[in-house]
Amino acid sequence: MSEPITLPSDADKTGRDFGDEELALLREVIESGTLNCTKGTQVKAFEQAFAKRFGIPHSRAVTSGTAAVHTAIAAIDPEPGDEIITTSITDMGGIAPILYQGAIPIFADVDPVSLNVTPEAIASRITARTRAIIATHLFGNPCDMTGIMRIADAHGIPVIEDCAQAFLATDHGRLVGTIGAIGAFSLQQGKHMTTGEGGIVVTNDPKLARWMILFSDKAWGYGDPKPDHYFLALNYRMTDLQGAVARAQLAKLDGVVARRRRTAAQLTEILAGTPGITLPRALPEATHVYWKYPLIVDPTVIAGGSDALGAALKANGVFCAPRYIQKPAFECRVFTERKTFGKSQFPYSHREREDGTKIVYDTAEYPGTMQGLERVVVLPWNELYTDQHVHFIARAVQAAVAKLAGRPRGTANASSHADA
Ligand SMILES: *Cc1c(COP(=O)(O)O)cnc(C)c1O
Repeated sequence: MSEPITLPSDADKTGRDFGDEELALLREVIESGTLNCTKGTQVKAFEQAFAKRFGIPHSRAVTSGTAAVHTAIAAIDPEPGDEIITTSITDMGGIAPILYQGAIPIFADVDPVSLNVTPEAIASRITARTRAIIATHLFGNPCDMTGIMRIADAHGIPVIEDCAQAFLATDHGRLVGTIGAIGAFSLQQGKHMTTGEGGIVVTNDPKLARWMILFSDKAWGYGDPKPDHYFLALNYRMTDLQGAVARAQLAKLDGVVARRRRTAAQLTEILAGTPGITLPRALPEATHVYWKYPLIVDPTVIAGGSDALGAALKANGVFCAPRYIQKPAFECRVFTERKTFGKSQFPYSHREREDGTKIVYDTAEYPGTMQGLERVVVLPWNELYTDQHVHFIARAVQAAVAKLAGRPRGTANASSHADA
């Protein structure tokens, strides 16, 4: 191996781009003396600029990606016990809001290579109770939105796109987040653009927009002739300090995405044909924006599979996450113990399905999820990677594969995997 180098990290300034643009807008906020968005101008300007970039009329900035998903679900206004279909591989922030809004998450299986939820898996989970579908574009790779929208439209079910990892990704020329009823984004430290913590929702639908604006501000009807707190709601308002940073970050977003795509394409070109690993690829007519760069490891070729490859990469100075979230979301205690509100197990306990079938989360029903998690090694990706960084990562992967896949048949090392 060549000299180890330190890769840019999204945890600090080595892999984040904050500078004079952010500072100038932050200074305006501080000097104005107004740090909240109700009277300030930054969040409003950010919401408008974000909507404009996405070519969509309505947007609402909130405090996190979790808050964005919660706000989107609240706007759908499910009845307690209604079901919302989502994916078994995602951030808990994309799932917990379902329960908080009194609905039940129903997990659909994923494709074992992209780890994205599939239209077929969603279709198999639809019941009379299904109230919404959440399509999560994992790692920056768009789901099959054509297939998902066809199923959703056939059943009259709204789709929420979780775009926390997929800023400016496209499917058939359309930006993800603008294809379903609502798009939800996270502005957390590690996302394509960030305010440390933060989120935003977008929609074409004025009614959903109105509900989301109300929900994120205690449902108080500002500006109405007889304002009131119209329904149960929270305060998810973003501060104007974050709004200032968000505006500056948004101006950099297209460049961030272009750089991530360029360097990821470089890695893909170098690693093409490497035995035992499948490289990330978007569906035809879709673009991947590489929040992460996931490798799928074939354990019949790579001795020890994803764990061994991950360990070898780390030994070579490339931090990575074998098995991503380790286990499907539904294997977490919140679901296995149905630990929700006190001892109630609400909303699971609220009402039985009319047809008497039970809601069970059983790994046997999720072959794509189990195989995908077992085989994936997630490489961090960053817009500040240089050609040198890409070559360093490529060499580390090639060296790890060479070590674990052994030598070609006929040499001393081949027996460890030859019978697999
Ligand atoms: C990051 C993320 C979230 C949650 O966002 P936070 O800002 O951390 O609350 C939700 N869904 C997905 C897919 C994410 O990657």
